[in-house]
Amino acid sequence: MTPRRIVILGGGSTGWMAAAAFTTGMPGAQVELVESEELGIIGVGEATFPSIRAFNRLLGIDEAEMLAATQGSFKLGIQFVDWRVKGEHYFHTFGDFGPLDGPMALWGQYHRVQARLGGQLGDHCLPTVMAREGRFRLPDTEGDAITARFDCAYHFDAVLYAGFLRRLAERRGARRIEGKVVDVARHPDGRVAYLKLADGREVAGDFFVDCSGFASVLLGKTLGVPFVDFSHWLPVDRAWAVPAERPEGTLTPYTRSTAQEAGWTWRIPLRERCGHGHVFASKFIDEDRAREQLLAQVDGKALAEPRLLRFTTGHRAQLWSHNVVGLGLAAGFLEPLESTAIFLVHNALGRLIPLLLQPGGATPDAAAAFSDQQVRQYRRIRDFIILHYCLTERRDSELWRYMAALELPESLAYKIHTWRETGVLVGYDDEGFDRTSWLAIFAGMGHWPKRASPWMQEVPEAMALQYLRQRREALASITAGMPDHDTFLRHAVARAAG
Ligand SMILES: Cc1cc2nc3c(=O)[nH]c(=O)nc-3n(C[C@H](O)[C@H](O)[C@H](O)COP(=O)(O)OP(=O)(O)OC[C@H]3O[C@@H](n4cnc5c(N)ncnc54)[C@H](O)[C@@H]3O)c2cc1C
Repeated sequence: MTPRRIVILGGGSTGWMAAAAFTTGMPGAQVELVESEELGIIGVGEATFPSIRAFNRLLGIDEAEMLAATQGSFKLGIQFVDWRVKGEHYFHTFGDFGPLDGPMALWGQYHRVQARLGGQLGDHCLPTVMAREGRFRLPDTEGDAITARFDCAYHFDAVLYAGFLRRLAERRGARRIEGKVVDVARHPDGRVAYLKLADGREVAGDFFVDCSGFASVLLGKTLGVPFVDFSHWLPVDRAWAVPAERPEGTLTPYTRSTAQEAGWTWRIPLRERCGHGHVFASKFIDEDRAREQLLAQVDGKALAEPRLLRFTTGHRAQLWSHNVVGLGLAAGFLEPLESTAIFLVHNALGRLIPLLLQPGGATPDAAAAFSDQQVRQYRRIRDFIILHYCLTERRDSELWRYMAALELPESLAYKIHTWRETGVLVGYDDEGFDRTSWLAIFAGMGHWPKRASPWMQEVPEAMALQYLRQRREALASITAGMPDHDTFLRHAVARAAG
């Protein structure tokens, strides 16, 4: 049956994303959200993934209004600094590199003539050139021009975004209940019946969405769904986070991730401040030293004391059990290197709501299919994140030596081997990141196939050079005609205000 009474536990960005999606996508349902101000929310998570734009559009959100309300800026991708060796950087942006296969595969021709051409593969990707130049415009929504073949995401204040969604969800009928859940009652068949609050109130529902953060009150604690731990492959388990002033002229349209001795630091520029953090492995560095390393990276005055967050990387073995679906941190967590937490939430909601609306609604088959897909997605993203580390040439600290010697998950080892031996980029179902993204990391880390494909030789070298030079020139000229990110954003936000 399609559930009529949906209870969401948790009012962080996950809970309010869920409330906004259910009130929009299932208008007849009663949506209640329980949260505890005393327990609070985690309140970090400022960089997003492009599909958030589609999620917002489905909710009917005006982009400029959202940016104005959340300190938002645009994100074309991530700049990775010092990951392969110290002193080098590359970009992973949300754009294309032209054909990926066949004799005209742009990466293949580039690699073949790299010594004569110079530069980086990224010089042939529009959003990378835009990011490097600090320019911005939105992608075309129609046509097949190069200006339609890139995407963007946002940087925003996650607390303000949750508040923005809360107002939207409440306008559409969601009811917020303040209170701390101290007990959970279950039906004889194991389904959750109601949440019991500290003041004795009971909140009953026929479908529950666990958005209770790392506490995983329903999926983990109540239903006992085990946690699948990825920390062997991804050993970072702590983060220091601090907001800081943003120096004039540094509103970059990208996130920066800089590799450190035992992890990496992030820099996320918002309109009126900057978010900074240091994600690190506590087995390789102590907390005080990690804090010092973060503060040494901050390029403006810190606006608060750094806050320490602890986490374990992995996910619940099932993401839908009985009448409970877990979302956000209650479902799992992967380090924020590619900003995938919020993506996993809206992606899950995009799958869940159509399943619930099907005739038959929340069946065991639907639950199993949903869980399997979500778990696969966690694994695929895990592999993609490990890729950033395992191709490193750094051996200057314990973390980098550990990552270079790591026994990889089979699925990842296969992809790396196939690329290295044959130049084929393998893509599976339920990838969060498509083959272009894998290419950006392989190339950025200087990891190319051993031999050029014989197909490449079908194109005369002079023609390959001309093709690549023309593409570079075209991208440089398109980019030169764009406003800088700051100017674009000021106009966009002013439009929302006016
Ligand atoms: C260091 C770090 C950096 C991150 N960076 C990014 C990023 O750049 N991009 C990205 O997409 N994501 C990022 N994330 C993830 C992001 O922080 C989360 O996706 C986001 O904050 C959503 O959290 P949540 O709503 O799932 O949980 P929380 O914010 O923890 O909310 C949990 C809610 O449950 C409620 N609750 C819990 N127990 C009870 C109870 N017993 N009774 C009543 N209420 C209860 C709490 O009051 C709260 O409202 C990052 C996470 C970390 C740790």
